[in-house]
Amino acid sequence: MLGQAKDYLRQYFGYNTFRTGQEDIIRLVLEGKHTAGIMPTGGGKSICYQIPALVLPGITLVISPLISLMKDQVDALLQVGIPAAYINSSLSSAEIHQILMEAREGEYKLLYIAPERLESFAFLEELKQLPVPLVAIDEAHCISQWGHDFRPSYLRIEQMIQQLPDQPTILALTATATPEVRRDICESLHIPSENTIITGFERENLAFKVLKGEDRSAFIEQYVKKNAAESGIIYAATRKDVDHLYEQLRKKGLNVGRYHAGMSDRERADQQERFLQDDISVIVATNAFGMGINKSNVRYVIHYQLPKNMESYYQEAGRAGRDGLDSECVVLFSAQDVQIQRFLIEQQHLHVNRQHQELIRLRQMVDYVHTESCLQSFILQYFGEIDTKPCGRCSNCTDERQSVEVTKEAQMVLSCMIRMGERFGKTLIAQVLTGSNNKKVREMRFDELSTYGILSDQTSKDVSEFIDFLTSEDYIGVTQGPYPVLYVTNKGKEVLRGNTAVWRKERMQVKQVVRDDELFNHLREVRKQVAAKENVPPFMIFSDQTLHDMCLKLPITDEEFLSIKGVGVQKQERYGRFFIQAITRFCEQHPERERKVTEVSSVNKVKKETEASHLITYEMYQQGHTIADISRERGLSNQTVEGHLLRCASEGMDVNWNELIPKQYEPLIEQAIQAVGAEKLKPIKEQLPEEISYFMIKAYMVKKTVQ
Ligand code: ADP
Ligand code: ZN
Repeated sequence: MLGQAKDYLRQYFGYNTFRTGQEDIIRLVLEGKHTAGIMPTGGGKSICYQIPALVLPGITLVISPLISLMKDQVDALLQVGIPAAYINSSLSSAEIHQILMEAREGEYKLLYIAPERLESFAFLEELKQLPVPLVAIDEAHCISQWGHDFRPSYLRIEQMIQQLPDQPTILALTATATPEVRRDICESLHIPSENTIITGFERENLAFKVLKGEDRSAFIEQYVKKNAAESGIIYAATRKDVDHLYEQLRKKGLNVGRYHAGMSDRERADQQERFLQDDISVIVATNAFGMGINKSNVRYVIHYQLPKNMESYYQEAGRAGRDGLDSECVVLFSAQDVQIQRFLIEQQHLHVNRQHQELIRLRQMVDYVHTESCLQSFILQYFGEIDTKPCGRCSNCTDERQSVEVTKEAQMVLSCMIRMGERFGKTLIAQVLTGSNNKKVREMRFDELSTYGILSDQTSKDVSEFIDFLTSEDYIGVTQGPYPVLYVTNKGKEVLRGNTAVWRKERMQVKQVVRDDELFNHLREVRKQVAAKENVPPFMIFSDQTLHDMCLKLPITDEEFLSIKGVGVQKQERYGRFFIQAITRFCEQHPERERKVTEVSSVNKVKKETEASHLITYEMYQQGHTIADISRERGLSNQTVEGHLLRCASEGMDVNWNELIPKQYEPLIEQAIQAVGAEKLKPIKEQLPEEISYFMIKAYMVKKTVQ
C-alpha cells in the first residue's frame, strides 16, 4: 500500500519523495494504527492524511478548527484533482445537507469539519451513515487544556469516533510538542504513545536573525525596498506602531498593506485577501494576523519589536518559507522592548503564578536576542531538543563582522546623560553631544556642559543610533510612559567607572532574500494570471519552489514539465501549457541558459513528448487499450482518461460509443434529461439506476452534440 501512496504523491502532488516523518506516519495509518504526528509548521502534515484518504476506501474525516484554512485546503485539493468538501458554520443547512448527501454517495474522498459540529446530535447521526476509515485531527493540541488554544469541542471528538460504525483509525497532528500536550493528545484519543512520530523542529530553510540597536524603521524601509517583489510579514506590537510603519512604507511608494484589530472586518478581510493574491507584497500587522493563513511563499517575517515569548515567536516566524525555499526571520531588538512587554504582562492582571510564568518566558525571549550561539539551536533547545548542531544560517552562525571598541564614546554619552540630570529622551541627548544650536539646548543651558559637542564630528542620527545600541546592550535604561526618559543603568555605571569595556559590531548589511531572476519574475506573472482566472490565490496554483524548479530545469515538453517538483497530473494538464509557452519563449531569447531536465518521472511515461495528453490517451485507446489500462499505464485517474476521450470525441475524433454507453441506457438518460434539464449532472444521475455512471451521462451529452 505504501507503493500506492508513493504513486499518489507523484500523481497528485508532483513530489517524488516523502519528507521526514511523512512516510512513517502514513505507514502506521495504512496499517490501521492510531497515530500521533508532530511536525513543525510547513513540515507537510496535510499529506499525511490526504494520501491515506486516497488509498483507503470510503471518506476520511478531517477535524480542523480554522474555518478559513478549511476552504483553502479543499480548494487546494480540488486543484490537484482530489474530490473534497467542508462543513462549517459558513454554510447554510441546505448546503450542509447537500454535501452530506453527496458524501454518502461517495463523491468525496475527504470531508473537513469544524469541531463545533460535533455538538449537534443530528449531525452525529448523519456522520454515522458514512463509511469512515480514518479520522484526522488537525491542530490536535486544541484537545489539551495545557495547550495555548484549548477548544472544548475537541473533547467531543473521541465520543464521536466511538459512535462511528467502522471503528476508524485516528491520526492526530500538531506542531506543538510540549510533553504535557503530547500526553493529553494520546490519552484522550487512546493513541498508544509509541505510535507518536516526532520530526525535528528545525526549519532548514529559515535563517534567524537578531538586530540590536539599529534604527528599526530605516532598516525596515531598506529591507522592504530590497525585497520589493517578495511577500513578507512585519509584526509590530501595537496598532499605533502598525499604522505608523504602514504610512511610512506607503509614502515611499512600497506595496504595503496592514492588519490589526482596530480595523473593520471588511477592511481586514480585504487586506488579507490582497496579500494572499500577491497584490500586496508586505503586510504590517499585529499578532492578530496569521492564524489560518497558509500562504506558502512568505519570504520573510520581521518582528519590529521583541516578541512576547518563544512559542509565539516560533509560530509567527514559522509563517515564512512554508514552501521550503530560503527565507528569513528577523527580530529587531531594543532594550526598551522588554519594559513594554513587561508592562503589557502586568496590565493583564493575571494570577500571580501565571504572571510569574509569563515573566520567565519573556526573560527567555530576551536571552534569545542576547545569545551569541546559534539562534536556531537556541530555539530547538527551548522546545526540548537536545543534540542540536549550529545551523550555519542564522545571524550568529554567519556573523563575520568585526567588533570595535567604543568604551570611550560610551563614557561620553553616559556622562553627558548624568550631567543632563537623566531626565531627557534620546533626541535631546544626541543634540547636546553633537553640539546642536537648538533653542531648547540653549534654554536649558546645556551648551555650558563639558560634554556639549564632544561628539560633534558625528551626525545626531549616528549618535542616536549609538544610544540605541547602548540601550539594547542595557548600558542605558528607558522609563515607561508617554515621554520615555533615559537613565544610566548599573551596567552603564560600571562603564563610567572604567570597569567594563564596550564593544560594538559593524552594522548589519541588508541583503536580498532571493536572487533576482527574470524568468522567475515572469513565471510569477503567468501564475498570477492563471490564479485570477481560477479564482484562487497564486500559491495554490504552484508554489515558489515549483517556479524555481522550472527556472532551473526549463521544461519545454509535457513530460519534462511533469518532472518538476510540485507538478501533478491534473495541474500539468490544466496549466502546463501556459508555463511551457513562457519558458519556451525565454529559452529562445536566452540560448545561454542551459536546460537541466534530467529526471523524468517513471509513472508518467509517455510516447511522444510533444503531443497533448488527450491525444496520447487517444492513440492508446485506438490501439485497443481499455480505459483502466490507460490510466494504469499513464498514472492518470480513470476520470482523467475518460475526460480525454470525451474531449477527443468533441474534437471530432472517432470513439466507440457503444463501449462507452451501453445502448440500453441511452433512452433512460434521455428521459431523465427531459425531466430535469441538462444544466446539472447530479439531478440527472438521481433519476437513474445506480449502474449508470456520471461518465455515461456526460458521454451521452457529448454524443448528442457531435452526432
Ligand atoms: P503543515 O500543515 O505541516 O504546516 P503543509 O501540509 O501545509 O504543512 O505543507 C507545507 C508545504 O510543503 C506545502 O507547500 C506542501 O505542498 C509541501 N510538501 C508537503 N509534502 C512534501 C513533500 N513530500 N515534498 C515536497 N514538498 C512537500
Ligand atoms: Zn545558527
